[in-house]
Amino acid sequence: MLTPRVEIDLGKIAHNTKTLIKLYASKGIEIIGVTKGVCGNPTVVDVLVKSGINILADSRLSNIKRMRDAGIQAQFLLLRTPSISKAEDVVKYTDISLNSELEIIKKLSKFALEHSIHHKIILMVDLGDLREGIMPSNLNQNINRIKELKGVEIVGLGTNLACFGGVSPDDDKMKQLSLIADEIEAQHDLNLTFISGGNSANYNWFMATKNPGKVNNLRIGESIFLGCETLNRIPIPELFTDAFTLVAEVIESKIKPSLPNGNISQDAFGKTPEFHDNGMMKRTILNLGLQDVQVDGIFPRMDVDIIGATSDHLIINSKTKELKVGRELEFDMNYSALLSAMTSEYVDKRSINFNNAQEYCEMVEHQYRKHLQLLPRVEIQENNSRLISLKESGFNLIFEPSIMKDHRYMVREDVYDKIGRISRVLDQQDKKLIIRSAWRSFDHQRLLWEDKVSAVRKEYPDKQLEEIEELVSYFIAPTMKSMHSTGGAVDALIYDLKEDCIMDFGTNDGLTMNLNDKCYPYHPYISTKAKENRKLLINIFEDEEFVVDIKEYWHFDYGNTCWALEHGENHAFYGVVEHAELF
Ligand SMILES: *Cc1c(COP(=O)(O)O)cnc(C)c1O
Repeated sequence: MLTPRVEIDLGKIAHNTKTLIKLYASKGIEIIGVTKGVCGNPTVVDVLVKSGINILADSRLSNIKRMRDAGIQAQFLLLRTPSISKAEDVVKYTDISLNSELEIIKKLSKFALEHSIHHKIILMVDLGDLREGIMPSNLNQNINRIKELKGVEIVGLGTNLACFGGVSPDDDKMKQLSLIADEIEAQHDLNLTFISGGNSANYNWFMATKNPGKVNNLRIGESIFLGCETLNRIPIPELFTDAFTLVAEVIESKIKPSLPNGNISQDAFGKTPEFHDNGMMKRTILNLGLQDVQVDGIFPRMDVDIIGATSDHLIINSKTKELKVGRELEFDMNYSALLSAMTSEYVDKRSINFNNAQEYCEMVEHQYRKHLQLLPRVEIQENNSRLISLKESGFNLIFEPSIMKDHRYMVREDVYDKIGRISRVLDQQDKKLIIRSAWRSFDHQRLLWEDKVSAVRKEYPDKQLEEIEELVSYFIAPTMKSMHSTGGAVDALIYDLKEDCIMDFGTNDGLTMNLNDKCYPYHPYISTKAKENRKLLINIFEDEEFVVDIKEYWHFDYGNTCWALEHGENHAFYGVVEHAELF
């Protein structure tokens, strides 16, 4: 599996989100989900929406665009005061923005009018933390001016504390905000929808207060993702604090002195380091550095000490532990480390674990429907690479017999190379890749479809043809729609040479496949063994940049529209190939 990587436990995030929504609702407060901690990662954000969040907020327009492009269904709020140069994009891509500058609001108004858009504004008030916000004494004057503008509407007041100045959002500050809101509503004849009292730092105030006053909204990020409040970073009861795991890999493991040898001058970052002589020690290097993550915010889950880091190396005193080359180590991250790891393109991101089968299946089906809508819109820049036969490759592969005579199991050139590398990785583990299917002509696809329809018909003689076709279409695409016609799709399983059998993936008996929702790749109700085997299968394909199908753990795509969509690419390069002879 790729390292370094962040493993994201979606089940834990869903749990945290639901628990917080319920908790804050108990005193009439709605929460906005703040997504900057995960850079608007659509898979994660989708979990927030499915868990009941209606408004998503991010400080970056690019993250908001990313979520929109992925078809996330929510209202979008821009957290950071808009840059005047981006005012047009702000009204185009967001529904609401937090604001504190009249000049900028005028620009928003201009572009809102131009695009016939109604843009909502929450005015930020500075209650003493001294980051963003209008000083309370200047509010009236600002509001008078904003009310004259068309296309923009003040829908709320907000404040942000405990961010720059570390000022606590306590009952005094929240009462002050309520009071200001009352005055403004009366004086300006406004009805403010949002009185947004702050962020994850408001937890202690919320728990202690008997009356939240007019405060009816909070913007919450860190509590959802890391399960803590942010005044003292104390875990919130019932929440998970380990939804994110940073994983890195040992690349050197030696016994070396604790004291550098030679004249000490500046290190790689212009500092002059100091060391103490603790004799010889077990020094381990991991493939993780400052370009991957803010290293002072990571904490090993194993009892080892971080000695230091450079751009690409993390040096560890592994104390009594024997950490061999290739071994993986897990770390917790604080919020700054999470932000940096999620931002770094060198760090792979992987979603894992759903707690509950129903939740998981709903999520898969939701994702699948969204997928069907978005797929036709993915641009294809066909690169015309050849189809090559895997059958004649000489790679160490097993081929599942095909319904087509003389089937040659063809794939595009890059896919061919990838399969070659995968087969060699499995060779080293006494395993063999089974190719179930590769490129299919329309005739082949039609044959498969008709074969399955007649099989299901025999099984359910009373069902209408329409019903049967719907059942079949769940797992076999009708002729024109299969990714297999691109040469970028491969169906695969693994044969274990030591056990002399096809591995158990939870829905198969050898090559015979039970088609049901347990075929969804991360279904929680399959055996531990089957989960491990799926993990192996999916990981070796993901390491070669394939994506696993949303519904079938054995189906992998590369280069086609499905891949482009799942992998976040702006275009695909393998379109449909109707006849192999063309190449
Ligand atoms: C980041 C941010 C938040 C969320 O803060 P958390 O501590 O992650 O809950 C809320 N409001 C604004 C303006 C922010 O920039």
